[in-house]
Amino acid sequence: MPGPYDQSQDDLAALLGDEPAFRTRQVWDGLYRRVLRPTEMTDLPLGLRQRLDASLPAALSLLDQRSSDADQTVKWSFALHDGSVIETVLMHYPGRSTVCVSSQAGCAMACSFCATGQAGFRRHLTSGEILEQVATAVRAARPRRLSNIVFMGMGEPLASFDNLWPAIERIHADFGMGARSMTVSTVGIIPGIRRLTAAPLPVGLAVSLHAATEELRNELVPVNKRYPIPALMEACADYRRETGRRVSFEWAMIDGVNDDDAQAAELARLARSVRAHVNLIPLNPTPGYPVRGTPPERIEAFRSLLERDGTTVTIRSTRGSDIDAACGQLAAAGSSATGVRLRRR
Ligand code: SAH
Repeated sequence: MPGPYDQSQDDLAALLGDEPAFRTRQVWDGLYRRVLRPTEMTDLPLGLRQRLDASLPAALSLLDQRSSDADQTVKWSFALHDGSVIETVLMHYPGRSTVCVSSQAGCAMACSFCATGQAGFRRHLTSGEILEQVATAVRAARPRRLSNIVFMGMGEPLASFDNLWPAIERIHADFGMGARSMTVSTVGIIPGIRRLTAAPLPVGLAVSLHAATEELRNELVPVNKRYPIPALMEACADYRRETGRRVSFEWAMIDGVNDDDAQAAELARLARSVRAHVNLIPLNPTPGYPVRGTPPERIEAFRSLLERDGTTVTIRSTRGSDIDAACGQLAAAGSSATGVRLRRR
């Protein structure tokens, strides 16, 4: 069943049937500019509101909401129509609010240290399911303005570019958010990076690198066997050259695995070659990966090694790790709502 944000303006016009033509614009405005549910569109006649509510039920049903960091981080679990479960995280910082959206129910990339990868793949999300996560965040952030969108939730966004891109276009054109405030994160799907590079909106690119040598990356990020580091770097260099935008490399710090001096030197070399920025992510615990995160002092030392070699580095904060909302922890208990009572709000 399509949700409200899976409708095109033509779909809406067809659904509205005999209504005057201006109603389509009104409903569209309600969905995107005012970000209302049909029942809240009080500029529509009551009967029409009820009809819309019945024919366009929400695509996401809230299963659970948890918050941490003094309510500055909120994680939602949503059930989809087919019983799949996804998670979305909203994070407030001084001066900005960022939503981390899922692009798939589950993930097929099987990165060993990531809870979503450990749980396996169910399906791609539709553009409307992606957009409804954004709409939910816009509403929840009020009175603050949602300022950033990162495609860093469950799933691999570049594995279904055809669902991702229409969502990005609508976020830009209809929710009115700048392309530069969106970042797509990928394990390194080269054809997807190439499509992003050629796309007409300057959306940011983050690459989950995690290892700078083939052998180690094959182990941590299995898709590396298909898209090895040299080809990935070439795609990043082209993105950089053609868009003028800086790529970020994501690097989860795993104790005794990818935090030695040799990896730092090789990472610095790769980052220099495409003038990438490096984000170091303290490893967040996941059930299926019995390895510890790098201790804070070693993270600092690793950062210094990179900086000494001319790379710019940020150490990511671990927002929401106590509610399993941090990087790599989104898993939604087996990605299925079976046996869970839906709680609607
Ligand atoms: N599939 C895309 C989008 C997910 S983004 C991608 O991989 O880029 C989620 C980020 O969290 C990725 O950089 C991922 O590698 C990282 N991550 C996964 N598991 C993690 C963990 N246990 N601790 C810290 N970061 C993790």
